[in-house]
Amino acid sequence: MPRTPPAKPWEPVSSSIAQWTSFSRLCEIWWTRSAGIGAIDAARRNRFNALVRFAREQSPFYRHAWRGLPHHELEPRELPVVNKRALMANFDDWVTDPQVSLEGVTAFVADREHIGERYLDRYVVWKSSGTTGEPGLFVQDGEALATFDALMAVHMDPVRFAALHSWDVLARGGRAALVAATGEHFASIASWQRASQSNPLMTARGFSILDPLPKLVRELNGYQPAFLASYPTMLALLADEQEAGRLKIRPVRLWSGGECLAPDAAAAIERAFGCALTNEYGASECMSIAYGCREGWLHVNADWVMLEPVDSDFNPTAPGTASHSVLLTNLANRVQPIIRYNLGDSVIVKPEPCACGNPLPAIQVEGRRDDVLSMRAADGKLVRLLPLALTTIVEEAAQVHRFQVAQAAPDRLVLRFDLDRDHHRQAAFRAAAAALRGYLKRQSLPNVHVELDKRGPLADRRSGKLRQVVCECRP
Ligand SMILES: [Zn+2]
Repeated sequence: MPRTPPAKPWEPVSSSIAQWTSFSRLCEIWWTRSAGIGAIDAARRNRFNALVRFAREQSPFYRHAWRGLPHHELEPRELPVVNKRALMANFDDWVTDPQVSLEGVTAFVADREHIGERYLDRYVVWKSSGTTGEPGLFVQDGEALATFDALMAVHMDPVRFAALHSWDVLARGGRAALVAATGEHFASIASWQRASQSNPLMTARGFSILDPLPKLVRELNGYQPAFLASYPTMLALLADEQEAGRLKIRPVRLWSGGECLAPDAAAAIERAFGCALTNEYGASECMSIAYGCREGWLHVNADWVMLEPVDSDFNPTAPGTASHSVLLTNLANRVQPIIRYNLGDSVIVKPEPCACGNPLPAIQVEGRRDDVLSMRAADGKLVRLLPLALTTIVEEAAQVHRFQVAQAAPDRLVLRFDLDRDHHRQAAFRAAAAALRGYLKRQSLPNVHVELDKRGPLADRRSGKLRQVVCECRP
């Protein structure tokens, strides 16, 4: 069962080096961005060329993929598109440090004691939550982590923020709460642990999304965090609890990531807690892709990330139109180069400048949106279940990534697996159903039936898209 990882002692030497790297990166970002969009584009271009040169020299996978291409500097569109399946199948040839191997990384993440620690004493490892149906393992080097930290700091504008809120923050002991799928090697938990280890004034505590809501509310009331971070669906549930008066916290800043956040949902969450919400668009492949602005758009960190919205043939889509997918290049990480990687999200680029004044390109993301399920308990009360909690339980228990959890009735869940063999499907169902029943019992829902649907996952009738958690009935 996932649990809150133990707090690690603060390491003054390595932390101050990391902070210095992050601080110099912060200055660099300020300089580039204050010089305008021309300087940002030039920085991106230079970093792209340097990354391509490096990958060609150090990554056998890319060297082979680009063997027919000329050796002078190339336009991004001249390089082939890569995907998670091909990269994971060639993991040992993809990475640029020969000491990093699929076997080694797999063994490292299998041991939960290693959460928040460094693989080979120098790399942070993130496991993708399998939202695209393919599991992935992502290794980040020190430079990449310093860049992500600096990008977060630039956005949070720490000087102004501290001046405005220092009393409130101090009054709450600098306490930060992360409500996430704890006990796993997800990007959010790994980076959160890193942040709390490097800052002696900040105490951070992880809370599990798998816990029943009343328990979470009780624990958060006791903890009284100054900062609260979670997935948008979880923040929306907590906002309802705050409005109902059961949750009584006064955070000074909220952070959301890991799922798409609709502007109206963001506004409702801010209203309930009476403070600003920072929305981050990121992925295990690149933790910080874009940040939300007050106009409801996401501004791409275009000096450190290259995003190419494309149609189904990987041709560029025009601003103002929804793309089929988006190609991601992470310019900060060298150990495992992500270059023109098919991320799968649909993106719309804002054709005109954003009214907020930020010169960075503005986008909206139509990622996969799973349903929050409202299940009816035996006493008639409705209990809401988070899609990320349900998918984490099924993935962990059944070790599968291509499946669907559907609510067929107020008290009935059906599971669909993308597995060819019947005995594999039966085994996956037995494992997943046992874990789900335990979870449902803890959520006061022992009356809910869990059944197997022998069909594979079904695409949405209207959009044609496949969603992992879907409500197919009226509560
Ligand atoms: Zn804006």
